[in-house]
Amino acid sequence: MFDALQENLGAAFKTLRGQGKLSEANMRDGLKLVEKSLLEADVSYEVARAFMKRVSDQALGEKVLQSLRPSEQVIGIVYQELVNLMGPVDHSLHLKGKGEVTVLMMCGLQGSGKTTTCGKLGRLLKQSGRKPLLVAADLQRPAAIDQLHVLGEQLDIPVYSDRTSQDPVKVTGAAVEQAKRLGADVVILDTAGRLHIDNELMDQLKRVDSRCSPDQVYLVVDGMTGQDAVNSAKAFNEALELDGVIMTKLDGDARGGAAISVKEVTGVPLKFMGTGEHLENLEPFHPERMAGRILG
Ligand code: GDP
Repeated sequence: MFDALQENLGAAFKTLRGQGKLSEANMRDGLKLVEKSLLEADVSYEVARAFMKRVSDQALGEKVLQSLRPSEQVIGIVYQELVNLMGPVDHSLHLKGKGEVTVLMMCGLQGSGKTTTCGKLGRLLKQSGRKPLLVAADLQRPAAIDQLHVLGEQLDIPVYSDRTSQDPVKVTGAAVEQAKRLGADVVILDTAGRLHIDNELMDQLKRVDSRCSPDQVYLVVDGMTGQDAVNSAKAFNEALELDGVIMTKLDGDARGGAAISVKEVTGVPLKFMGTGEHLENLEPFHPERMAGRILG
């Protein structure tokens, strides 16, 4: 995960380490390499600049420059600032008590991994003793409904769909009633996806959001798409007031910038990350662990 970023940062720290005691100029050079690594990993420009300002203010202070191992201190500062940037930890799904139905609305562009993530989340919830119901609320694409049914069968989780309806608000309302009948306590709504953000998609999602009042609204974004993932999170958040982001495909050759920037740019926490195509490949997002992985 994030191999290039890890390697580049490693090289930047090695340059600092090679110097023994550091002059201010040495330190500035090393910090420039750190900034370059972040930009190459597709961290957004503003985020990288502000981040480096915070790191530099500390790294160029006397306490660090005059210490015996300044490079180790800089690594510690970068680690802590990365944790601050991506955190705090927040992967609660804010589920209601077991007798009540919690509705989780899942949004995202087509191909982001939304439907797969609905299945993954259902699996985690089932494992933790909850009774999920998967709901096909993407009514334009019959294949999306089929895909959810296949996942439900694999996971032995019930799936609600209504192929005769064109109204996701009605389908959602009926699904919540069905959940009550089945004794299910978490409804996971797989909403419509499109290749691009457009008004029709946003209007539909806003209508479901305002009429069905889901308890939590989560956006699934593809971590491989870098700043596009962050920009779509921004746009969805403006329309829907997201409660969290789930970033998929962090197992691939994602460069890392999306995971590092999304919380800072949107103010919305990154709750989970997808680390593979299999249904067990969903992990709660831990800023400390992620910062640790990035620094190797
Ligand atoms: P949707 O159109 O947003 O519902 O996307 P899908 O759930 O159909 O997923 C699109 C593709 O991404 C599928 O081939 C999934 O197997 C794959 N996918 C989803 N999540 C992950 C992930 O975390 N890692 C990897 N490598 N592939 C994923």
